[in-house]
Amino acid sequence: MKEFDLIIRGGTVVTHESAVAADIGIADGKIVAVGEKLGGSAREEIKADGLHVFPGLIDSHVHFNEPGRDDWEGIETGSRALVAGGGTMFFDMPLNAHPPTCDAASFDEKMKLAAEKSYADFALWGGLVPGNLHCLEQLAERGVIGFKAFMSNSGIEDFSRVDEVVLREGMKRAAQLGKLVAVHAESELITSELTKRALGKGKTSIRDYLDSRPIYAELDAIHKALQLAVETKCALHIVHVSSGAGVALIASAQKQGVDVTCETCPHYLVLTEEDVEKLGAVAKCAPPLRAKPAQDVLWRYLENGFVSTIGSDHSPAPPDLKRDQDFFKVWGGISGVQHTLPLLITDAHVNRRLALSPIAQLTSFNVAERFKLPKTKGRLAIGADADLALVDLQAKFTVRTEDLLYRHRQSPYVGRALTGRVVRTILRGSTVFQDGKLVSGPTGQLVKPGLG
Ligand SMILES: [Zn+2]
Repeated sequence: MKEFDLIIRGGTVVTHESAVAADIGIADGKIVAVGEKLGGSAREEIKADGLHVFPGLIDSHVHFNEPGRDDWEGIETGSRALVAGGGTMFFDMPLNAHPPTCDAASFDEKMKLAAEKSYADFALWGGLVPGNLHCLEQLAERGVIGFKAFMSNSGIEDFSRVDEVVLREGMKRAAQLGKLVAVHAESELITSELTKRALGKGKTSIRDYLDSRPIYAELDAIHKALQLAVETKCALHIVHVSSGAGVALIASAQKQGVDVTCETCPHYLVLTEEDVEKLGAVAKCAPPLRAKPAQDVLWRYLENGFVSTIGSDHSPAPPDLKRDQDFFKVWGGISGVQHTLPLLITDAHVNRRLALSPIAQLTSFNVAERFKLPKTKGRLAIGADADLALVDLQAKFTVRTEDLLYRHRQSPYVGRALTGRVVRTILRGSTVFQDGKLVSGPTGQLVKPGLG
């Protein structure tokens, strides 16, 4: 008779391939058995009747702003909100931290803080900025997940955007190091010119801001990044693609053999520019939310498998920075790390009948594959870490300010009715979050990408 540390009985197991009734046997933090009515005994049993067991969500795009700006969010509060939403791992972006993660010393500093404070496992992005090409190798040695670059102004003074010359050099270097480059793709030329024109006429409303960052600014930048990917043979990931037209460009490059993938975010899927006009600062982001027809096209591409990953792009700021009559001056960034899974269950699965396996792909499996995580991450399978989210797919709830676990209780989803409540999150076999509460200390560990 087999002895497990933990058996999860009676749930529906959602993998990147299927959703079937099965029990899960766990020993030493790993999944060691998956099957119907597992025999054997365990020190602990979890009854999961009526629940779905998802692979823990891996959010490949968060800004927890530590060190240096933990008054904006912080690793402790950010990772707490992540595990509340069924997340078991995050990749932290290099900007917003001060110093930004652009060299080995800043990597070490952030890694130390995250190891002390994180409730989830984590990986770190390195920055690609003008002047740090000589640091890419040491960052790769430290185990960065990839390099992030901005093609338009980042809004952060010590994280400059790259022009095409620097991006080309950086991508060449990254390709030699076997690393991927992720870009924020909006044309600086177009966005800065349109911004200048608007402000020149004293136009500072929400609508004026939206008009200053049109879809064609995104397409222009994606197009340039794709050309560089062809030329440098560097793996490219376009983050937070806001439009179906953007995904279309990437899909056609993929067809031609370019090593490129893309991410979108829940806010581009469930909110539109009408929402930002209603909600204001809490829904400001860049690229901005789009009109409904563009959103419909984005959904179509997602439903057809052309979007690889969904990241929250959780990017909060203190309330002061979210208040200004001039909408251009308001800090752009949406807080969303707590609700990715229920948003997708509600809008993709319940409303649009997308199966559950594609959701597991977008939030876990594809992330692990694209970023070459060790095979222990991103899958609900024998041999993998027991990183799991138990979800009640019948439970409906309304997002309330008092339930937000962020440092600043702001979210464009407050008041939104969602289906799919995360009832328990398990990290490497141990429950970290259960029934609305943290139940363990911060035990997150750095995960370095594997070699193949
Ligand atoms: Zn971001």
